[in-house]
Amino acid sequence: MRHFAVVGSGPAGFYTAEALGKAYGEAARIDIIDRYPVPYGLIRFGVAPDHQSLKAVSKRYDQVAAGESVRFVGNVNVGEDVSVAELTDLYDAVILAIGAPHDRKLGIPGEELPGVVGSAEFVGWYNGHPDFAGLSPPLDGTHAAVIGNGNVALDCARILSKNRHEFEGSDIVGHALEALERGSIETVTILGRRGPHQISMTPKELGELGHLEIATPVVDAADFPPLEADQALEPGHRKSITILRDFASAGPDASKRKRIVFDFFAKPVRIEGDGKAERLIVERTVLDESGAAKGTGETYEVPASLIVTSIGYQTPRMEGVPYDQRGGKFANEQGKIADGLYAVGWARRGPTGTIGTNRPDGYEVAEHVATAIPAGSDGDRPGGAGLDALLQERGVRATSFDDWRAIEAAEIAAARPGSPREKFVRHGDWLKILGR
Ligand SMILES: Cc1cc2nc3c(=O)[nH]c(=O)nc-3n(C[C@H](O)[C@H](O)[C@H](O)COP(=O)(O)OP(=O)(O)OC[C@H]3O[C@@H](n4cnc5c(N)ncnc54)[C@H](O)[C@@H]3O)c2cc1C
Repeated sequence: MRHFAVVGSGPAGFYTAEALGKAYGEAARIDIIDRYPVPYGLIRFGVAPDHQSLKAVSKRYDQVAAGESVRFVGNVNVGEDVSVAELTDLYDAVILAIGAPHDRKLGIPGEELPGVVGSAEFVGWYNGHPDFAGLSPPLDGTHAAVIGNGNVALDCARILSKNRHEFEGSDIVGHALEALERGSIETVTILGRRGPHQISMTPKELGELGHLEIATPVVDAADFPPLEADQALEPGHRKSITILRDFASAGPDASKRKRIVFDFFAKPVRIEGDGKAERLIVERTVLDESGAAKGTGETYEVPASLIVTSIGYQTPRMEGVPYDQRGGKFANEQGKIADGLYAVGWARRGPTGTIGTNRPDGYEVAEHVATAIPAGSDGDRPGGAGLDALLQERGVRATSFDDWRAIEAAEIAAARPGSPREKFVRHGDWLKILGR
């Protein structure tokens, strides 16, 4: 029998467990360990609450978790409750699938002012992440800014621009829904250092901005290169640019009271305010020959009492695990960190790619594991039994997939009308449901 530990129950962890299950069949036991009693990583805590259809992929993960050879071990924080070195002693291989939950910093003066929040925090707040339940982002001003030109920036701007009715069918948490409804944000400015051709926004997410009930996109036609330049773009990307061009030529819809303003060629240089964020000082840029943004020296102000930075994520360091500082991920060669230690998903590749990108990634790493530890060979590691003994000795009470099912049932039972569930957002609430 072989024993594997997959640390992290997001998409990458589940796809890897699925692939290991296929490669080893009954000859392996796979523990999927997560710090929380609720699985799925960013599918629960990242993907926008008004994008419910995307979350349906978790049904596939449930089937993996229900497999005979797979066990979900929740409520165990690797690095605190048990170390990576201890896991590599207990299991034949350990696969780190912990994602990239930390915001990258802008590195500009004023970033520490109240009112400046990272997108991981803001997204975590409206998605019921326990670490950010108490965030309380300032929504009482009229102007917000979102820094970044990717889909997460679009998610943040859209969530700030919807009315209560538009959240029907979503699983946005109650505290965020109430706060957004009470809030008074009228203008959300999305800033990008480069131009429309350099965005990382996909057509579906951009297109949604054209169908909001009370908000309208504002795009300046002068920001675009000549139309012919679009021909060189990859088709999906070209579609995104066409949507932006359409927004520019249609002009803002005057019947809508909120505006989502695209500010391209805009490099934030400073955040100012009296004890809290009040405005961004932005430098106008142009593209140099290599396509990088170059400051022109011209600056201007963008008013904003809430500033969400959405410029990428990082994997946290873990003791004894080599780290790639530049990439903000574990140092690895095709997923291998060291003998018996691997990384998958965002912890391997950095924070890029969709949910689906993690599937080939997980399968590839599982293949490397199966090459290094051939199926049919026997090992002498204690695996899950060894982990259970260690956790018991330390008073750590792990949770099971059935426990998750109990939490999910309670969340569904508590759902407000029109919502699939009312997410419980405190660690203590989860444990209370389990009678602990
Ligand atoms: C805001 C946002 C919105 C997104 N929206 C979309 C979308 O609409 N469509 C799409 O296709 N993709 C979307 N993505 C991308 C998608 O979520 C990622 O590709 C995917 O979640 C990465 O999977 P992962 O398993 O590597 O990491 P994660 O999903 O982050 O999973 C990591 C898991 O590891 C656990 N963990 C972390 N540290 C520890 C520890 N020390 N011990 C134990 N467990 C630990 C976490 O609890 C978590 O369960 C979005 C991403 C973000 C940030």
